[in-house]
Amino acid sequence: MNLYAYTLPLATPLRFAGHTLNERRGILIKLEQGEHVGWGDCAPLPGFSHDSFEQCRDALHALARGETHPDTLPPAARFALDCARWQLNRESRLSLPPAIPLLVGTPEQQLAQFDALETPPGEVKLKLARDTVENEIALVYALLARQPKLRLRIDANRGWDWESASHFAASIPLDSVRYVEEPCADLNDSLRLYAQHRLPLALDESTQVPGFQYESLPGVRALVLKPTLIGSLERLQQLIDQATMDGVEVVLSSAFESNIGLTHLAHLANALTPASVPGLDTLSALGADLIAPNPWGQNKPLITESELTTL
Ligand SMILES: [Mg+2]
Repeated sequence: MNLYAYTLPLATPLRFAGHTLNERRGILIKLEQGEHVGWGDCAPLPGFSHDSFEQCRDALHALARGETHPDTLPPAARFALDCARWQLNRESRLSLPPAIPLLVGTPEQQLAQFDALETPPGEVKLKLARDTVENEIALVYALLARQPKLRLRIDANRGWDWESASHFAASIPLDSVRYVEEPCADLNDSLRLYAQHRLPLALDESTQVPGFQYESLPGVRALVLKPTLIGSLERLQQLIDQATMDGVEVVLSSAFESNIGLTHLAHLANALTPASVPGLDTLSALGADLIAPNPWGQNKPLITESELTTL
């Protein structure tokens, strides 16, 4: 096992929970077995992940010295190790999973992004709870006026209070909504939106607490799972199985991993959640590719293995 540290420039700074990231740091794991090579991307996200670059680095060093077991690795390190092992035994050809356009910014900007799309999509993802509720209700109607059959995935990132969320749910045509991710800070308020308005829900932040266990909740149609935060691919598979048996869709989602990690996530989505469209639209934030050009055709400078720092 070889370990490399990487630092990728970001197109624009990323902001999470008080952290501003100007670059993306991570660790690449390289496994070799005969002529097979497996790469893994360990990229805990500051302000978001519960593990850190330093914790992962120290744990991977201990693993390389045979002093620890993979089960004790922090999630991002375990995800990298499992992906590298998986790649050793996997066919490398990737058919890219479909994508859903993500609209961000003010309602005017989101509408302009929609109008700029080359082909009218059947579904879009909106980031809401960032402007007044009235402006966001107007955005929904403006989109539906352009395309009446459009389906909406809405992500509020827990940004609405009960009154705002309730007003929103009561004001929009619910059959256009595939689901709303985490409308309220309090999960009970979110569940009440289904009970009172039949607003379909998805969980994202709620799945990111360490030791998250699947629980059947009325109104929850989908779980958004970030494999980098979960760690073990076996545990990821268990959560997917539990949700699927319950009729709940699982949407795999990225956390600004490098092209190496993101490519694994695309393989995972094809293998584990083939009926679902994953949320992997984070590559454009990164200013370079590692090891090999990304399969999405985004043109970036390439950082080769010999240019990486051995850890
Ligand atoms: Mg979300």
